[in-house]
Amino acid sequence: MNTVRKAQWAVRQSALPTVVKPCLDCTGTRHRPSGKFRVNASGKLLDVWLLLNCVVCDRTSKVPVHERVHVSSLEPARRVAYESNDPAMVGELAMSASLAAKNGYRLDWTGTWRLQTDTPLDAIHAPTPLTVLISFELPAPVRVERLLMLGLGLSRTAVRRMVADGRIRLPLAPGAKTHRGFEITVDRSDPAGDAGGSTVLVAPAVEERTCLRRAGALDALPRVLRSAVPAGA
Ligand SMILES: [Zn+2]
Repeated sequence: MNTVRKAQWAVRQSALPTVVKPCLDCTGTRHRPSGKFRVNASGKLLDVWLLLNCVVCDRTSKVPVHERVHVSSLEPARRVAYESNDPAMVGELAMSASLAAKNGYRLDWTGTWRLQTDTPLDAIHAPTPLTVLISFELPAPVRVERLLMLGLGLSRTAVRRMVADGRIRLPLAPGAKTHRGFEITVDRSDPAGDAGGSTVLVAPAVEERTCLRRAGALDALPRVLRSAVPAGA
């Protein structure tokens, strides 16, 4: 039987990144969005700033988003979003790599995401290959092997060994960072001849991984996947 099982993993957002830049009032360097914009109109010209607060002293600082732009050059919906402190717009700009580059600060993505999977940790012990489509909800740069460790419940050493053995096939180097979706294929972790199946499952921290047992086919799966589940079943 040569069926392929399919799974979906998603890198979900759990927080906004921290803006790293010097504070003018204290020695702190970490800032969080205040959730607000400041909009100044001067005739037909607009200035828009994203407001940040220093995590240590709470000092407010301003990141220029638009400087002296003509009112007519902004989409009305965008202007409304600035004027109403739209949380989605705050989030979009707080995660913007181009805004960070333009204003000379760094984004720290630590603690901003968690991996949601629809596969139990022991799924890799099933006899058929598992194809996993990994998607990103936010542009957090994540090391590929970190995702594999969380999703498969394996140590870094085990992940690297399986990649070297060709049992995990992927389009990126394990040590690379990405924020774009990609697909991997995992063969069973204990091929015949692998003495005793030495791959050790490591339970990832709960806050970093959630297993989504979706309604439907996946709910019908036994906890230990011993039989092949055809794609789309
Ligand atoms: Zn400060």
